[in-house]
Amino acid sequence: MKLAQHCLSAVPLALAGYAASGGRFSGAVMAGLSSVLIDCDHVLDYLLYKKRWGGMKDFFANCEEGRLPRLYLVLHSFEFVIFLWLLVGFGIAAPWGVGLTIGVTGHLLLDWVGNRHVVKQSFYWMSFRAMHRFDGNQLYVTPPVSLEDPAEESARA
Ligand SMILES: [Zn+2]
Repeated sequence: MKLAQHCLSAVPLALAGYAASGGRFSGAVMAGLSSVLIDCDHVLDYLLYKKRWGGMKDFFANCEEGRLPRLYLVLHSFEFVIFLWLLVGFGIAAPWGVGLTIGVTGHLLLDWVGNRHVVKQSFYWMSFRAMHRFDGNQLYVTPPVSLEDPAEESARA
């Protein structure tokens, strides 16, 4: 999913966060913000690959066109979503936590549906990515030619 689409989805998710948190402003704000800002973990993957910031255009090209050789995406995981829902379910989450849960869940579901042509179906499970050693060659539906050879990469490490 592209940034603009996530920004659009932030509006209904903020409304859902407002409703689910019992009409709390903090629930709405956290739902809206988290539904967009969760994508900041792409920056970490990009910097680990590029070792420097190459500008917004290069960043979006690498992320959206599936060119990153390693996909950690530490915040994009259904395990994280389940953990958040457990906190909500047990009544531990504050109103802003309820909003966060709704924002993150909405984002991940949109990514899961919207990126199914880019990454494998189970991609948004952290355990699935870990099982494949976060290797883009095994996680992208069609690994791009620009990916580094993993054997070559491990030899350098
Ligand atoms: Zn995302």
